[in-house]
Amino acid sequence: MYDAIVVGARCAGAPTALLLARAGHRVLLLDKAAYGSDTLSTHLIHQPGVAALARWGLLERLRATGCPPIERAVYEVADVHIEGCARGVEGQRAGFAPRRHVLDALLVDAAVAAGVEYREHCRVTHLLRDDTGRVAGVAAVHRGRAFTERARLVIGADGMRSTVARLAAAPYTVQDPRLTCAYYTYWQDVPADLELYERPGGWVATVPTHDAATLVLAYFPQTRFAEVRTDAQRAYREQIRLTAPALHDRLAGARPVERLHACGDQQNFFRRAAGAGWVLVGDAAHHKDSITARGISDAFGQVEALVEAVSGTLDGDPARLDAALGRFAEEQRRRLLPGYEATLGAARLDPHEQRLSLLRAVQSDAELTAIYLDMVAGIVSADALYTPRLLALL
Ligand SMILES: Cc1cc2nc3c(=O)[nH]c(=O)nc-3n(C[C@H](O)[C@H](O)[C@H](O)COP(=O)(O)OP(=O)(O)OC[C@H]3O[C@@H](n4cnc5c(N)ncnc54)[C@H](O)[C@@H]3O)c2cc1C
Repeated sequence: MYDAIVVGARCAGAPTALLLARAGHRVLLLDKAAYGSDTLSTHLIHQPGVAALARWGLLERLRATGCPPIERAVYEVADVHIEGCARGVEGQRAGFAPRRHVLDALLVDAAVAAGVEYREHCRVTHLLRDDTGRVAGVAAVHRGRAFTERARLVIGADGMRSTVARLAAAPYTVQDPRLTCAYYTYWQDVPADLELYERPGGWVATVPTHDAATLVLAYFPQTRFAEVRTDAQRAYREQIRLTAPALHDRLAGARPVERLHACGDQQNFFRRAAGAGWVLVGDAAHHKDSITARGISDAFGQVEALVEAVSGTLDGDPARLDAALGRFAEEQRRRLLPGYEATLGAARLDPHEQRLSLLRAVQSDAELTAIYLDMVAGIVSADALYTPRLLALL
């Protein structure tokens, strides 16, 4: 009997297991994927996520993998050019964009070092229930062999297409149409800051990562997905040329070092994230377009909140645990909703005049620029921008 079984061992599941184990719980961490495997993601971790890694004692380990800090950001749209550094949070002014096979392995290693029992290649297929109907464990398959394990709590950290959510019949509570599709690859010898370029119908970004590579990504409206995928290479380069012409020139003598990665299924939703004996974290609970690069940082925030919410209830009365899970789920929905709405706004790829006039005011002032970049990083909400200085400029 485990205190918790965590299904999914990436940026939501592995730190959940880690923090529960550090709190003294017996935890089993399962993933159908292999240890150290890659996954679809442009993997930028904004400063709130970096601060979480620092609190968990993992930031120095991440730095030691050779992942470069990303201190400067550039944002261009229409005639606006914003450039500077965020003020940051908890002393963390830089973002990082570690390759996922590095980050996810580092998180699993930390969980195992904290006493978590980790099993790769284990696909969860069913939820076990006790005679009251409360979830009481999982059935899974490891290399063709079925097994069951029991726990007081089953945590679904198994991504956007969560099996735990499906088996628990967790309904969507908020659901919006897909807005974009994304294509990206890695380029060698193209030094870059975090650079964001926007125009109606287009979004391009550069993200420096491991091995002196720069990830260059291009977003299109979801309505173009069927057409773009017929010749994705051409569409990718054309989107860069139209949205970020100077970057297109910089790429002229360079070469991509990987195939083009594609994602046409960027769902936007919240699910009911808790029930009797089960809870969801990360993309399983809530998924949004990747354009604002919030998924990892938001998952880290959820993980810490979950571990705090269940503290003192995991080895006691199940009804108390379930009540704590319900409160956690509702608080997270409230906390994440403004970022979700801001993301949908960005993912419409339609920079409107009202926003452009605000940005023109922001670009003329260093302090407003820093606040704006804090906003991009998810540190402050849009309200923080409305200082007396901004109002005067407007
Ligand atoms: C194109 C793209 C770009 C993105 N860019 C960024 C970015 O720059 N910054 C950012 O913060 N976020 C980004 N995101 C979002 C980010 O990748 C996700 O929010 C994040 O990966 C969520 O982590 P997770 O652990 O919840 O789920 P996942 O990373 O999806 O991990 C879920 C795990 O569960 C396992 N699993 C699934 N089903 C089962 C099962 N039945 N049994 C056992 N294991 C199972 C899977 O094998 C997987 O390892 C991007 C996403 C996409 C698609």
